[in-house]
Amino acid sequence: MTRRWCTFHGDYAEDVELVRIIETGTGPGGMLYACPPCRQERGLAPLMDQPADEDDQ
Ligand SMILES: [Zn+2]
Repeated sequence: MTRRWCTFHGDYAEDVELVRIIETGTGPGGMLYACPPCRQERGLAPLMDQPADEDDQ
């Protein structure tokens, strides 16, 4: 088990996954990590479980 920082509740947790990459035109972007409870609460899915092709919406 890997403990990582959960961006959403602001503490370390188990099974934290990358859920979003913030892309900004200027300045550094950011990556948001969420633990399972935060993902469930906010309806977030880990990025690696999402299809890479986002064009067909
Ligand atoms: Zn969390």
